[in-house]
Amino acid sequence: MHSNNPGNKIIRHGDHIQLNFGGFVSLSTVDWRGRSACTVFFRGCPLRCSYCQNEAIQTGSDLRDIEAITDMIMTSSPFISGVVFSGGEPTLQKEALLALARFAKKQHLAVGIQTNGQFPATLEALIAESLADRIAIDYKTRWEGFSSMPGDHAPVPRDNYQKNIKKSIAICKKALREQVIREFEIVITVFYENEEYIKEIAAQIGTIPLVLQQGEHKIGNLQATASDISHGEYISKRRSLQELHPPLTLAEIKKIADELGRTVRIRTREAGEITYESDWRCRDARKRQR
Ligand code: SF4
Repeated sequence: MHSNNPGNKIIRHGDHIQLNFGGFVSLSTVDWRGRSACTVFFRGCPLRCSYCQNEAIQTGSDLRDIEAITDMIMTSSPFISGVVFSGGEPTLQKEALLALARFAKKQHLAVGIQTNGQFPATLEALIAESLADRIAIDYKTRWEGFSSMPGDHAPVPRDNYQKNIKKSIAICKKALREQVIREFEIVITVFYENEEYIKEIAAQIGTIPLVLQQGEHKIGNLQATASDISHGEYISKRRSLQELHPPLTLAEIKKIADELGRTVRIRTREAGEITYESDWRCRDARKRQR
């Protein structure tokens, strides 16, 4: 695939860099609060979160020359002030991510990264070249069982993930302190089952902005069984599973936040994103009851 825009070419040691491409949203107002951005989705992720919204791009191959992606960004550029790299896992494809971030910066576009934190070396490389303005790390709790699912990447041992995400957080904290990045946040997807882990993580991350995102269960083995059942059967199976395990409501997530005793942002389907000052009195009252 060749670029229509000659000024838009990235060459690295004479080789084309390719991206395992997952998708492109030409204009998004939800991926970067307060900005219009385009979003580039990278295909491939070594984790297998049971609730993944982007399971269609966890695996597989759709290789595109980088110039095809920079053309897409250029088409959006009159309408945006930033580019978000998401996935899948963007930091898994280090060279492609660095090349695209360099390109975006050359176009005077801000760069946002959404990552699971598994590849600290990529974050380090981005920060070393001042190629990121905003980093959001999705912190996967131990409950989510990501290490045991099959796929075309080796499973990620939990201890390995814990080690890597801690490194990633330390790197981003330092970059924020030194004003190399301007925004840094930790995002946790919340279910009934992982409340205890949320408290542990909140204690570990200190004052880093925290987003609690409403989680929604999915059918774990959808891809394996989809061809065996009709679409109608699938919808009904999925609905009954989701009725058994409905997402937490905004009020329930606020209760979790009260236990943390800090300000958080909460994202739900019903209310969008809100900033919530936790009710410290609730937490203190519960402590007194114990
Ligand atoms: S880390 Fe993100 S992209 Fe990867 S499986 Fe989990 S939710 Fe999906």
